[in-house]
Amino acid sequence: MSARRTFPLVLSAPSGAGKTTIANRLRECRQDVAFSVSATTRTPREGERDGVHYHFVSADEFRRMIAADELIEWAEVHGNFYGTLLREVDKARDRGEFLLLDIDVQGAAQIRHKVPDAALVFILPPSGEVLVQRLVGRGSDAAEVVARRLRNARDEIREAPRFDYVVVNDDLDAAVGDVEAIMDGRTDHLRPHPPLDVLADRMAMEIDRHLRPSA
Ligand code: ADP
Ligand code: 5GP
Repeated sequence: MSARRTFPLVLSAPSGAGKTTIANRLRECRQDVAFSVSATTRTPREGERDGVHYHFVSADEFRRMIAADELIEWAEVHGNFYGTLLREVDKARDRGEFLLLDIDVQGAAQIRHKVPDAALVFILPPSGEVLVQRLVGRGSDAAEVVARRLRNARDEIREAPRFDYVVVNDDLDAAVGDVEAIMDGRTDHLRPHPPLDVLADRMAMEIDRHLRPSA
């Protein structure tokens, strides 16, 4: 019997769409999934551990890693630098694991060129209103942070057509099922979604309504 094919899986999404929730579910229900631990220059948040959530490094160390070709992709996101370690990709391949990369759309574009067998998945919330509810409901961010994330989301959603697959995270089990279908090569089982330009226009309108309620 031939070994099952595994590959890196990029998960990108506007903040609050449910990427972390989906990734955690996958890790709980499958043995063949690993998380890529990125390097970043941002300071750790409460509860974050070095080497577990990120490798927290100085700007000098980050520059050294770029110069030494230790990063397979890197980008500046919200004023900090983030990058994927080449050794994470190699380690997952050696172990026959799907490597989940939680990276932004700039990083996804670099992975497309450098790791041709990677699958690029964009997670969308079902609507702009639901995205607002999830960001506010998560309760982890101040109002102005939520507003900034929503403004970013409006632009990020427009990037969805550049990805190989789009998964709408309406029902969590169904969304996790879609990502598993991609992993297992059952893409004919993916749920259909409305055209992306229609979805993006509608979401942008709903986000604007939240940001400018009187407009
Ligand atoms: P992201 O990692 O994309 O920023 P999170 O995974 O933190 O988003 O999810 C944002 C919030 O939405 C969390 O409170 C999470 O529990 C909730 N959430 C995620 N997916 C769903 C879903 N399918 N249905 C309802 N709530 C969800
Ligand atoms: P946070 O600071 O909230 O953990 O992450 C902020 C953003 O940086 C998220 O959109 C996340 O996907 C992105 N990000 C995290 N690690 C990487 C990485 O290694 N490369 C790139 N390009 N983006 C990353």
